[in-house]
Amino acid sequence: MKNDEKKPIYCTYHDAPGHHFYGHPESPDRVRPMQAWLDSPPYPDIKWLDFEPAQEGDVTLIHRMALLQGLKEACQLGPHEFEPSPSYVTEESYQEALKAVGATLAISRRILNEGSGRGFAIVRPPGHHAEPQESMGFCLFNNIAIAAADAVASGMERVAIIDFDAHHGNGTEAAFWETPEVGYMSTHERNLYPGTGGLRSAPHALGRIINIPLPPFSGKSVFSAIFDRIASPWLSEFQAEMLLVSAGFDPHFSDPLTTLTLDTAGFFEITRQLVTLSEAHCQGRILFVLEGGYDSVALKDNIHACLAGLCGEQDFTDNYGPAPAERSDMGSLIYDLIDLHHLKEF
Ligand SMILES: [Zn+2]
Repeated sequence: MKNDEKKPIYCTYHDAPGHHFYGHPESPDRVRPMQAWLDSPPYPDIKWLDFEPAQEGDVTLIHRMALLQGLKEACQLGPHEFEPSPSYVTEESYQEALKAVGATLAISRRILNEGSGRGFAIVRPPGHHAEPQESMGFCLFNNIAIAAADAVASGMERVAIIDFDAHHGNGTEAAFWETPEVGYMSTHERNLYPGTGGLRSAPHALGRIINIPLPPFSGKSVFSAIFDRIASPWLSEFQAEMLLVSAGFDPHFSDPLTTLTLDTAGFFEITRQLVTLSEAHCQGRILFVLEGGYDSVALKDNIHACLAGLCGEQDFTDNYGPAPAERSDMGSLIYDLIDLHHLKEF
């Protein structure tokens, strides 16, 4: 463990300045405060990787060619919204989205080449709502799904994705609906956009696709319990060789779009749990990929906390401090999940 923690933590940064729509919450301003980290990383183990835009052949591991073509044509029309959530494109969105995929693949391929390693792709636009045939929910290409498919194409027999964004990753689930090599577990606030991810919504894939809809105001005790009692046995039984994390920070209590109640210390704690799980079950391969998170002060602190967790450090900035009263009662949810997915109890 100690030696592993001295390895570089691979990071990429892509703020996609050309993908920007006036007044929209998914903007370059979300990540821009972290740009200073490129010259002055918050921890000495962080190593920034260069990257190229992804090839279209990488993107078509997940998305239909018709989506790529449609998106290119939409960009030629200039800046406009295209879906009620609302998502948008500009003239440069297609190229910016290819770069977000490229920045994600730069780390996942590095980890695969080296046999183990940790990383964080600080990229936008986000990806987990983008389905094989449709861009939606602020997402154009599904960065993490493409990385998972690429890992399988490179010889990984099983890849696990854990998605702690406050919204269900319908796109990632759809991409791997019938893919036995890829497991998907999502914690999300129930009844939020896009309305998918019910407890029993994937009955054909019990033990592989695990949806965990949470009541509003669920906080760190809920997340910790789920990662201990659901994610841990799931990763053990699924035998994933690599763990990809859809790291959405909209579960933070300050977030304007959600009502979950994680705080920055909570993101640090769940990162430590996920790192431990990756060491125990996934040969130390773990990659965080940025999804949502729309309060830019909290987003920087939360990513800082996750980087601390990945680097084996303890100190991080926390402007908002602890969450107000959180809900810790989950009713029978844990037992329902264990029962439904035939997980072992520890
Ligand atoms: Zn979200």
